[in-house]
Order: sequence, then C-alpha cells, then structure tokens
Amino acid sequence: MSEILLEVKDLKKYFPVKGGMFSSGKGWVHAVDGISLTVERGETFGLVGESGCGKSSLSRVILGLVKKDSGEVLYKGQEVSTMNRSQRSRMRMVFQNPFASLNPKEKVFDTIAEPYRIAGGYSRQQIQEEVMKLLDLVGLSRGYATRYPHEFSGGQRQRIGIARALAMDPEFIICDEPVSALDVSIQAQILNLLRDIQKDMGLTYVFISHNLGVIKYVSDRIAVMYLGKIVEIAKAPDLYAAPSHPYTQALLSAIPGAAESLNIERVLLKDDIPSPVNPPAGCRFCTRCLYAKENCFREEPVMQQVGDGHYAACHLLGKGAEG
Ligand code: SF4
Repeated sequence: MSEILLEVKDLKKYFPVKGGMFSSGKGWVHAVDGISLTVERGETFGLVGESGCGKSSLSRVILGLVKKDSGEVLYKGQEVSTMNRSQRSRMRMVFQNPFASLNPKEKVFDTIAEPYRIAGGYSRQQIQEEVMKLLDLVGLSRGYATRYPHEFSGGQRQRIGIARALAMDPEFIICDEPVSALDVSIQAQILNLLRDIQKDMGLTYVFISHNLGVIKYVSDRIAVMYLGKIVEIAKAPDLYAAPSHPYTQALLSAIPGAAESLNIERVLLKDDIPSPVNPPAGCRFCTRCLYAKENCFREEPVMQQVGDGHYAACHLLGKGAEG
C-alpha cells in the first residue's frame, strides 16, 4: 500500500499588500486559499498553473519557510511547523533561478557543504567526502569544488543547486520551476538528472512548473492551480486524456494539436489572471470561463470526483463524491 508522506489540509496564506512607505496595508494577497492535497512516497506530484497563481507560495508554506495562516501541513503525520531543524532537513528545495540562488562569493565546495556545517557533528573529512559524492551524483567534476558560481553555465549551476538540495540525505524535495530559466537544450538533461536521482535515492518530489510539457514529462499525478486554489487533480495520463475543468481544458488546448486530439474547443484565455488581492466571488475562474453561468459568480464550486483519483471543482460537473 502506498504511504502518504505529505498531507496538506485546508491550507491558507494571505500576504499583506503595502501601499507605500507611509501607508498602511491595502488588503491581502490570497496566495494560498484553502489548499488540500496528499503526496505519496516515491511519486512526483506536479503542480501547474500560470505565474501568480500561488504555486511558489504554497511550496514555501509547505516547507515552513513562510508561516501559514491556517490549516495543516503534515509530514509523515507531524505538523511541519513543530519540526526541529534536523527533522526539516529531510525536506529540501531546488530553486528556480540557478543564477540567483547561489552565493557568488562562495566556492562550490562551501555552497554544498553549508547544510552539514549548519547541522554540526560532521568532521572536515566527512564533509569533504559527502561533497565529492554529491558532485559525482549530479555529474560535475570534483575539481569544480574550488570554483565560483560565475565560472559555470546555467545548467551546471542548477546541478550545483541540486547537489546542495541533496546534502543531508533528504527524502522529499520541492523542485520550483527548476528548468524554466535554462536553455531548452539543457532542460531535458536536468529533468533526466532529477529523475535518475529520484530513482537512486528513493526521493519524493513536488514539481512546480507553468510548462505543461515539462509537467507531463515528470509527473505521476498533477494538480492544476488557479488563483490560490486547486481546481483539478488527476493522474497525469488522465489529466491529459480527459481534462474536466474548463481552466485545465484551456491550458491544454493551447498546446499545438491538443485541442483536436482531445476533441475540445481551442480556448484562448481572455484577459490576464485577476488580481489575487480581489479574487472573483464564486468560482475563481468565472471572469475568464467560456461556460460561466449566473451561479458561477455567486457560489464557489466544491471538488467532485470525476474518475479514479480524478477530482475537479466546477458547477458543470455532475454531482459526485467530494474529493
Ligand atoms: Fe466555469 Fe462555472 Fe465551472 Fe467555474 S464553475 S469553471 S465559471 S463553468
């Protein structure tokens, strides 16, 4: 039976909007607004949506880097906010921008060694051995340890970021748009590296991307996020074969050739994503949805089961079990 590693229940995080140096708060950004999900050990759980939908905020709240407002984040049954540093070291993150996430003044060795030094209890010899092992694992020459980030290409820098995330033997990693800042030619190499490492180390990933091609390539299950909420969750093949939510359909229909093969209308998403400070009442997608009816502007749809492990939140769907 599969083991649930991460369980998120009705998680909320709002950030205050500041109007300027002399003004007080001007409202709240509804970045994460009642998210519930589970991640099973060993799987890659994809999180997809347009930029500004709250994916990155969600990942930071899950890891305890940002304090939640309400809800629960349980890692192996324990609330993350009550975990000590050593327990949290099993949960790590690969950041989006390898150009910004590395300290330019720090040699590669020190960047990768830092988690061991912070944790304490490791001899110089042990740290040396661990760093060399990690360089091997991510396909970088051991000789690179004495160099600085500016001496590397984007792909090599992301390998350094991955090596650092793998320090201290983690079991759960959030990959936050890990290839979006890289040349297309390099992206597949990094995705394959992440997949190989996952197999070797038995890792569990939450993989965040706005790119549906990347998400499809890496994910076992996928959640589609829109304005702080999850609107659809399904196994990856099911989501691409039979998207249920109009927003998912719109995203997929934008992939060349997909609308025809899915037999759905090609939907051009009109307007930009609304401000998360004043999200629409009712269904969050109502201002851009082709099928919106009057009740969509008043009532928030709840998650309904539409297939095996497949859930979506839309008034158009038949009444089913709540997910
Ligand atoms: Fe569109 Fe209404 Fe469904 Fe929302 S609930 S996705 S507005 S049809």
